Amino acid sequence: MELSVEGVIADVARRVAECRRCELWRTRTNPVVGEGSLKPKAMFIGEAPGRSEDLEGRPFVGAAGKLLTSLLQSVGLSRSDVYITNVLKCRPPGNRDPLPEEVEACTPFLAEQLKAMRPQVIVTLGRFSTSYVFSTAGLSFTSMAKVRGRVFKVELLGFKASVLPTYHPAAALYYPKLQESLAEDFRKLAQLLEGPREPRGVDLSLFM
Ligand code: URA
Repeated sequence: MELSVEGVIADVARRVAECRRCELWRTRTNPVVGEGSLKPKAMFIGEAPGRSEDLEGRPFVGAAGKLLTSLLQSVGLSRSDVYITNVLKCRPPGNRDPLPEEVEACTPFLAEQLKAMRPQVIVTLGRFSTSYVFSTAGLSFTSMAKVRGRVFKVELLGFKASVLPTYHPAAALYYPKLQESLAEDFRKLAQLLEGPREPRGVDLSLFM
């Protein structure tokens, strides 16, 4: 019997909690599977949980998450309209970059999430998720500077989607010059989604 989306996501969460496919389970506090709509207008894929996410078991709840939430609000979207997840479900110690073997071990969970939700738009945040989605869709990934803000119509994991790569919000906190590009990419996202609503007067200059 085929599981519902809720069933698949609950099953993924149960298996992530028990996962020992790499060593990150030893040092993490909580796994971070993802959250938001299970029929999302768009799926956002980050890199890996940071300290705040590891403590709360929720994606993008720290400083980068606040910027992500504001960017969504700036184009009339809320976190509950979308699904937010990461390439890795457990925090790498000290927020180091994911290792190739960790990405290989963990991304079957992300593939299950994508296949269950079949989002019309996939927003990749930074190079790790962009590289994974591109290779899964048979595209070659060069650099964020080359692909960011462009819409790639792809077929991956048995469904069609538009992929919109953009900078990771943490990178934009570190290099404020990237924030205008991020804001522009979110405006492009709103155009891609049918019927974007009125922005709610969010002042992004607070982050710049
Ligand atoms: N950075 C990420 O890539 N993901 C999170 O959930 C938080 C910070």
